[in-house]
Amino acid sequence: MSERRLARDVSPEVVVVGGGVIGCAIARELAVDRRVLLLERDRIAAGATGRAAGEVTMSPSYPDYPGIAAHANAFFDRYDATGAIEYVEAPSVEPVSPDREEAARARVDRLRNEVANGGLDVAFESPDAVERRWPALDMSGYAGAVRFANAGYLDPAELADALRADAEESGARVETGVTVTGIRVDGEGDNGGDGTEPVGGTDGGADSGSVIGVETDHGAIDCSTVVAAAGWRTRELLAPDLPIPIRPYRTQCVVIRSPALRGRDVSMGWLPGPDVYFRPMGEDELLVGGRSAAVDDPAAASRSADGAFREHASEIGSGLLADPDPVRIVDDWAGVDAATPDTRPIVDRPAAGPDGLAVATGFHGRGIMTAPVAATLIRHRIEGTDPPFPGDPFALSRFEDRSADFRFASISDGG
Ligand SMILES: Cc1cc2nc3c(=O)[nH]c(=O)nc-3n(C[C@H](O)[C@H](O)[C@H](O)COP(=O)(O)OP(=O)(O)OC[C@H]3O[C@@H](n4cnc5c(N)ncnc54)[C@H](O)[C@@H]3O)c2cc1C
Repeated sequence: MSERRLARDVSPEVVVVGGGVIGCAIARELAVDRRVLLLERDRIAAGATGRAAGEVTMSPSYPDYPGIAAHANAFFDRYDATGAIEYVEAPSVEPVSPDREEAARARVDRLRNEVANGGLDVAFESPDAVERRWPALDMSGYAGAVRFANAGYLDPAELADALRADAEESGARVETGVTVTGIRVDGEGDNGGDGTEPVGGTDGGADSGSVIGVETDHGAIDCSTVVAAAGWRTRELLAPDLPIPIRPYRTQCVVIRSPALRGRDVSMGWLPGPDVYFRPMGEDELLVGGRSAAVDDPAAASRSADGAFREHASEIGSGLLADPDPVRIVDDWAGVDAATPDTRPIVDRPAAGPDGLAVATGFHGRGIMTAPVAATLIRHRIEGTDPPFPGDPFALSRFEDRSADFRFASISDGG
């Protein structure tokens, strides 16, 4: 794409920065009634999105906010029904060791009671019941399993591309190979040059100015709203004047093949002890994911799983599956996502930033499943209206300390 074309053809109201699942979902949502331009430095789904396992486990991830989980689950059901994507509904189980049985049963009771009217479908299943329903699983050694309904999986790149296609159909422009190098802001503290300054702001927001466009490696673009959805790069995009507490971390996937899976059903699931999740893949394969750690140089992080995690995943797979033969590893990869201190994303139009700046980042291993929530919430934040679910869990203001120097925590609730 040439500079001339950018300058001449584009007069968007909204620029969405980043063509991951979040940017695509937001572009799709806003393109219905706004002129939207999505800018992606590489290609659609080039970041964390294209590396994701595709699990949708919103109910265990948001047990405290069933309305948030329900919003996402309903979207995936509807979107599957349109034929735009294939979303496979599959309950998620959490095998429970005998020493954790009492606590697990109490948790199930609490979750059922807390959301008695919200419909969180969770149960404690006996080992026999689990093996009858999913004969590929070997539950010996476990006291049972916590079973969450309302879960499933999909192909993350297919989802991002379908959202992108919908956005374009509604009139959005999507440009790949364009890097946004800064947000242009007009207002207090104007540097006097070309009437723009970098993103600035204080907590009051009063002196932060207003967004007037973006700077890109193909020239400047005018717009009144910018949605920063640049994954782990969002912090550097908004720095130094609107610090957001995110940091990059790397996480891994291994695909194993086993005769135990041939012609036998297997659930999705989460093993809290070894800290891995799993889900069916194709005919006779199981994806095993986990082993997350913060990284200092995300651009250089290995895109393959480590030897140690490959070994760990095959041991876990062999122990979990009802076949004595060792499993075979058929694929592996790793990717980098953005973590927050409390593992929940930042989806907000922060008072601390300039008018017209919205942020959607820090999805901490759950961006695929949370994309429909992020898209709806960004619309409401831009319009200043109430979303149909609680928005506070996603507010930037929940963090007093906005530094990236926080301790990275793995998600630990089966999400
Ligand atoms: C191995 C792995 C497994 C995962 N499994 C799951 C799962 O099962 N379920 C789930 O829900 N989530 C999962 N996740 C997390 C999920 O992938 C992320 O949370 C989600 O993809 C984040 O989407 P995003 O759009 O915010 O970021 P990204 O997908 O990283 O997209 C950001 C985009 O912005 C672009 N960009 C950055 N800077 C600029 C700039 N300055 N100008 C223009 N473009 C820019 C990047 O090139 C990139 O394409 C997993 C992640 C990994 C790595």
